[in-house]
Order: sequence, then structure tokens, then C-alpha cells
Amino acid sequence: MVDLDDTRQCPVGPECEGCGRLDELAVVTGDTRDGVLCMTLCDTCEVAGVVPILSPAEETARVLEHAAHVGVDVAPSGEE
Ligand SMILES: [Zn+2]
Ligand SMILES: [Zn+2]
Repeated sequence: MVDLDDTRQCPVGPECEGCGRLDELAVVTGDTRDGVLCMTLCDTCEVAGVVPILSPAEETARVLEHAAHVGVDVAPSGEE
């Protein structure tokens, strides 16, 4: 069973996706309608529970990206 909250393989972004801060960054996971995705947040936003605003398309792409980080194969049928 894969742990979707495992962020060890997730790349940390260059800045906080909530406020744009450049330090104290960490990758956290978030639940969306499409599944679990990861995002880069600073300490403050993480504590405050800030969730970056993503478009539905972005959200879907991010969920797929994070699935790849944790090693889940969720590629749409037809790929590979
Ligand atoms: Zn922030
Ligand atoms: Zn990830």
C-alpha cells in the first residue's frame, strides 16, 4: 500500500505557493476532489493551513505528478 502523504520524493518549489516567500519552505500534501497532491508552502502558510488556489486542470495535473512522486501508476489509459 502506498502512502499518499509521503513527500520524501516530492521536489520543493522555489517559493511558497501561498504567499511567495522564499525561505522556510516545505512540501505538504493536500486533498482535492481528484486526489492527493503536494505543494510547497512556507512555515507560516503551513501552520495557517493555507491552500494555494489551483484551476481544476492544474489540480488534476498536480495530483498526477504527486502520484508519480509516491510511485503510484495512475497514467490515463492509452499512455505508456
Ligand atoms: Zn507562505
Ligand atoms: Zn509530490
